Amino acid sequence: MTTKYTGKCLCGDVTYTVVGSPVVVAQCHCEECRRLSGTGHTIGAMFASDAVRVSGKLSIFKYSSDKGSEVSKAFCANCGSPIYGQNTRMPNHLTLSLGTMDDASGLNVEVVIFERDRPHWDRLGEEVASFPTQPDWKP
Ligand SMILES: [Zn+2]
Ligand SMILES: [Zn+2]
Repeated sequence: MTTKYTGKCLCGDVTYTVVGSPVVVAQCHCEECRRLSGTGHTIGAMFASDAVRVSGKLSIFKYSSDKGSEVSKAFCANCGSPIYGQNTRMPNHLTLSLGTMDDASGLNVEVVIFERDRPHWDRLGEEVASFPTQPDWKP
């Protein structure tokens, strides 16, 4: 059985389809991922590049990793949603942002990296109030 995943950005301009299973699903707490996401981590599913079809206008930002490889981050040019990342350390692969997937059933985080850089506020205690949807409550 071949698995197919679809996804899109916040505004819907960028859509993608991927066929097959991810190489790995990883959660990353590095500083770049924290700034990219605006929160404490990213979660990405790495696939072979040729399994992924993306349509819509992307904006690409590139930087050097501390291991000297080149990292590219692709965003929707309109709404800024992070769609995927690529790293020259893993040629012919790309990592899709799991939160942009329509249905990630069956996918789970398999590994956490840069745990060292995980902010204390990205680890919730059991005493944190939790609501199923936006509550009437105000802080
Ligand atoms: Zn968009
Ligand atoms: Zn990272």
